[in-house]
Amino acid sequence: MAKTYGVIIIGSGPAGYTAAIYAARSNLSVLVIQGYQSGGQLMLTSEVENYPGFETGIMGPEMMEKLEKQALRFGAEMIPEDVTKVNFKHRPFVVTTDSGDYRARAVIIATGASAKWLGLPSEKRLQGRGVTACATCDGFFFKGKDVVVVGGGDTAMEEALFLTRYVNHVTIVHRRDLLRASKIMQDRARNHPKISFMLATEVSEILGDNEVTGVRLTNVETGEETTLDVQGVFLAIGHKPNTDLFRGILNMDSTGYIIPTEHTMTNIPGVFAAGDVTDHRYRQAITAAGDGCRAALDLERWLEGQGLEVGIENWD
Ligand code: NAP
Repeated sequence: MAKTYGVIIIGSGPAGYTAAIYAARSNLSVLVIQGYQSGGQLMLTSEVENYPGFETGIMGPEMMEKLEKQALRFGAEMIPEDVTKVNFKHRPFVVTTDSGDYRARAVIIATGASAKWLGLPSEKRLQGRGVTACATCDGFFFKGKDVVVVGGGDTAMEEALFLTRYVNHVTIVHRRDLLRASKIMQDRARNHPKISFMLATEVSEILGDNEVTGVRLTNVETGEETTLDVQGVFLAIGHKPNTDLFRGILNMDSTGYIIPTEHTMTNIPGVFAAGDVTDHRYRQAITAAGDGCRAALDLERWLEGQGLEVGIENWD
């Protein structure tokens, strides 16, 4: 009979690995399905300076390697593949990847969210060299510089306001002449002396060979092109939770974030969600890790409540 894991964790960001560490340490058999691009959003970050415990900071990819090793140390198994299908109709649950079907008594979904990008080749080339999608992570590196924030929502206002602590000037570039952000956030940004707006304007190119030196802007009403000298480009055009696989199965809000039903448990008993896949508000490594811990503890208690002793496999 195929092995039935105590828990399958889908996703390998801070939420997934933290859940794996907690679940494996509590003697559950754990399989982490990491995704072909393991490590999540932190693999795209440079230095992480605000994660407690690393007093001199740590590079995002190195931090993820450490979390993976910590989970491996407690016996978690890893598969670096994407999940292609799930069946949560019956227990044990079945999670399918390119290499086959895997069974588990419980599942933690920690598939995260992805920042939206404009889709410009120059944006990809200069990612981590002045182009970023996280002011909280990278703002510190832009002390005294001029930057643009792209977007017209609350995140764009919030990121711009945050950046004023460090930068010389922020230009918010938004594709429409109306902002989407709440009035209070708009007012805060509008009243800030370090922030100016270019509305009805799109970033048509990010300039620079090895690092950002400017942006080419196109006025969407007149088609007029201008160039703005900046050293940083902060994308704040929204995030997309990675939940396409679970549509129609798990309760989600209109933008696809999973809505837990009881603590971290979803509307399907035994299926839990943790990290950015449930959170469009905080989106930090530390909050995702905390959430992974909560999901692992919730699932242990749930298994015990079902009369399923932690540590016994093949109960089906
Ligand atoms: P959002 O509200 O969806 O706004 C995204 C912005 O990016 C919009 O202005 C949109 O333009 C623009 N955009 C999207 N795709 C684009 C593209 N390809 N090119 C150029 N611009 C593009 O996302 P968000 O600001 O991340 O906020 C997400 C949710 O979190 C919202 O509910 C928000 O209220 C909430 N939030 C709240 C706070 C707070 O209260 N402090 C802080 C952050 C976020 P259009 O307007 O033209 O569509």
